[in-house]
Amino acid sequence: MSRPQVESSPSGLAYVGSRIERAAAQRGDATALAAFAGDPRAGFCVIGGEVVLLKKYGEVFEPLFSGAQARAFGAARETVFLGLMGEIPCFGVGLDPEAIAVLKGREDLKAIDLRSIAVQGLVAPELLPPLAEAKALLGWHARHRFCSNCGAATLPVQAGWRRDCPACKTEHFPRTDPVVIMLPIAGERCVLGRSPRFPPTMWSALAGFAEPGESIEEAVRREVLEEVGLVCASVTYCGSQPWPFPTSLMIGCHVATQSQSIVIDRSEIEDARWFGREELKTMLARKHPQGLTTPPPIAIAHHLIRAFVEQADQILHGQS
Ligand SMILES: [Zn+2]
Repeated sequence: MSRPQVESSPSGLAYVGSRIERAAAQRGDATALAAFAGDPRAGFCVIGGEVVLLKKYGEVFEPLFSGAQARAFGAARETVFLGLMGEIPCFGVGLDPEAIAVLKGREDLKAIDLRSIAVQGLVAPELLPPLAEAKALLGWHARHRFCSNCGAATLPVQAGWRRDCPACKTEHFPRTDPVVIMLPIAGERCVLGRSPRFPPTMWSALAGFAEPGESIEEAVRREVLEEVGLVCASVTYCGSQPWPFPTSLMIGCHVATQSQSIVIDRSEIEDARWFGREELKTMLARKHPQGLTTPPPIAIAHHLIRAFVEQADQILHGQS
């Protein structure tokens, strides 16, 4: 079976390829954690809600602050241990969004959302995964302060990788929400859709959350049937991407369909239609006559489309 590999596509896919060694065995070791936090080389990602704080040197930006710099921003709601990048201990520091707002006017700082950091290429690509890890984990803490079993206030333990309930003793672990994102393919064509929140020229892969009790393949087939009315057969996994908005994992697939007639669920998407490989090539190259575009290379949808355009023969062979 052919396997169009997203990770071997032209790079630019954001938040993947982490160089962090998570050192999970040290999460419960207070002595080791104190030594990591006190290491003068330690780097701290500072995040408040959707906003990431960057150091600003003219037009150059740096996401890792020293411990002293991070502490100077005010009391952290949580500090989480991300792991070791080489020998550098990395942490995430969660501030109240109000505390971040106060810092927005400072000329030596930039406060900006993580999507824009990736799209604008503001930091080195290898520093996007620790920011994604920190944002997803700190966001989980911000939304899980109370026990879902008994309602009591929970406490962070294990360097931020668990919250425990002192009342009923339940242990709560950070969650990751699986989202299937897929390209329905028939011969030389595939289906793209539009959400009302997209920029007016952009078309992308279909997507939706996997539901409880569903395999990835079942979720892919159900979402395609719901959104565009196409009955699908074989599902080919292409790759995945952490998507920390807030805590998703995008699971990228190509899926074969014999159906041709699209029936759009307007409550889910604004529009959908078939696109041929030649038209997609012009969109990827930003040379479409009507100015239509695909998502940028930071997003897995771009690479699902590119893999179809560049490896369509292998993919078709894989579906036979
Ligand atoms: Zn409880």
